[in-house]
Amino acid sequence: MRVGILGGGQLARMLALAGHPLGIACSFLDPSPDACAGAVGDLIVDAYDAPDGLDRLAAASDVVTFEFESVPASSATRLSQRGASVRPPAESLAIAEDRLLEKRLFGELGIETPAFTTVDSQRDLDDTALPAVLKTRRLGYDGKGQRVLHTGDERDSAFEAMGGTPMIAEQLVEFDRELSIVGVRGRDGSVACYPLVENHHRDGILRVTHAPAPGLTAALEQLAERALRSLLERLEYVGVLALELFQVGDRLLANEIAPRVHNSGHWTIDGAETSQFENHLRAVCGLPLGSTALRAPSTMVNLVGGEPPLAELAAIEGAHIHLYGKSPRPGRKLGHVTISGGREWRRVADLADR
Ligand code: AMP
Repeated sequence: MRVGILGGGQLARMLALAGHPLGIACSFLDPSPDACAGAVGDLIVDAYDAPDGLDRLAAASDVVTFEFESVPASSATRLSQRGASVRPPAESLAIAEDRLLEKRLFGELGIETPAFTTVDSQRDLDDTALPAVLKTRRLGYDGKGQRVLHTGDERDSAFEAMGGTPMIAEQLVEFDRELSIVGVRGRDGSVACYPLVENHHRDGILRVTHAPAPGLTAALEQLAERALRSLLERLEYVGVLALELFQVGDRLLANEIAPRVHNSGHWTIDGAETSQFENHLRAVCGLPLGSTALRAPSTMVNLVGGEPPLAELAAIEGAHIHLYGKSPRPGRKLGHVTISGGREWRRVADLADR
């Protein structure tokens, strides 16, 4: 099987690494000649909407998938026209890149969300209850395209300051913690979910994931799994889908979906029977899904902005090190380390923070 991936970052790289032992070869389309997936597969350097690049990717692939959600609709159409199956379905991308469509889908499926209003002008915003989180409908990720509004003064100028594009204003939720659930749906409609995990962010970027989330109740797990299953089925989805949630007491409020492999699922490479990357490839290639069972409780620590010395990481027993081969830059995800059980993850986190 040959899989084409729009995007050549670390998610594409880890997909290709998972595909290699299965004899699945990956090609990538990315505008950057330095895209880090290029080290492990064929990199086509061109814009995501360049007809020539898309045609080359389609010619090199039986099926095309994505490592991000803001895929131009015209690109997905062109790939299909050139004979490549495109998975997951285009509708899931369109929904995931628009926070309003996403919220409406949650509503349609009875999945609880933070209270929100649509904001298309400063006047809409003037009526918004505070405190609130103002988010652009499109092109927001890792905390970008959003700001928290506490005071009337902050609210008064926020619409223009945020670019004057369509937005939503959400109630600022005082959550107990942030959770996410990653699941996969195969072409035959079979579904498998990984355990619900607990996530910790700093500056809007994921830093640590504990899998499974400590202190989970069966009721909470069922609630999350039911929500994810209903999304996978409603979207006739094929591939890995992640759902980010806020826990408030025994309630779960949906924040957003990611129609792709997800940073909060990186622990599955070392901590689950089948990684999210392998399962995504299995799904889009029409293969049976692999088990999503936990091998060992695991913690994943992201390496953001800088890489600790390899020798110091490697000296930590049980640390599984994944470096992406990217040059350091503030706020950039350069790698992650997964470690099973125990407290040793704090040593990794201390190194990552230094
Ligand atoms: P997002 O880009 O929607 O994933 O938001 C990035 C981060 O901002 C989340 O992981 C939360 O930590 C925080 N956040 C987003 N929306 C809300 C909200 N309605 N209430 C409280 N915190 C939020």
